[in-house]
Amino acid sequence: MPELPDLVYIENNLRSALNSKRITDIKIKEPIVFRILVSKGFESLIDARFENVYRHGPFLGFKFDNGSEMVIHPMLAGRFKLGSETARSGRGLCFSIHMEDGLALHYADDKKMGKVYLIEAGDYANIPRYTQQGVDILSEKFTLQTFHGLIQGQRKQIRVFLMDQTILSAIGNAYADEILFHARIHPKTFCYQLTQDEVTQLFRSIHEVIYSGIAEVEKARQPIEIKVRDHMKVRNRKDTPCPCCGTTIRRAGVLGYDAYFCPSCQPTSRKQFIDW
Ligand SMILES: [Zn+2]
Repeated sequence: MPELPDLVYIENNLRSALNSKRITDIKIKEPIVFRILVSKGFESLIDARFENVYRHGPFLGFKFDNGSEMVIHPMLAGRFKLGSETARSGRGLCFSIHMEDGLALHYADDKKMGKVYLIEAGDYANIPRYTQQGVDILSEKFTLQTFHGLIQGQRKQIRVFLMDQTILSAIGNAYADEILFHARIHPKTFCYQLTQDEVTQLFRSIHEVIYSGIAEVEKARQPIEIKVRDHMKVRNRKDTPCPCCGTTIRRAGVLGYDAYFCPSCQPTSRKQFIDW
């Protein structure tokens, strides 16, 4: 559920809320989501203090002053919530971390697909997909030149390429649709069918859509467990009119995922591109 703009918002909120707080208690409801990669248990965090909260692609990391680190991969349905110790934390609750001032961090996941790792600080080798993340699209390494290099020679459909986290870290389903709509590219287009100008436009669309998504989520000022999607133009808008041309938004399957697009703004037919 949390996509990059959501995670940036969650990260910033948690960093300021948890900063230096001492943990007084931990309640585990769903042991199945835990992967403890250290000899001590999760309870070893009691009495430790939060040192930092950071994001790595789709992962959220928490560093503690006792040399431990917790890394969470929320996948499709993981969600964070800050509340008082006694507040109802909702369904799907996996764990609650209670702090000295009465604040609690809750993590819930209805699908139990996400994972919570406890590691020695910096020891990411055994976290699946952590070290295989591609270039972070919010980092300065993500340049137009880098993007052209990454897409060159790719045989994938463009939507599949955008969502490949070993290449770009990290674009999820909702923003993949919004980016392709912004770039006016049909989701089933193959990478090699794109002209150089279209690749350049696509790079600009990634920037534009992700950074305006971050601004929209920030502006909405919702609690961190709420997903802000009101600014989406095509995602989950099947059978509603395209905000640009009025054509009915369609949904199609692209390699097992639902893609939403406007058939007029993002046509399938492409000019033959002859590369002599
Ligand atoms: Zn349209």
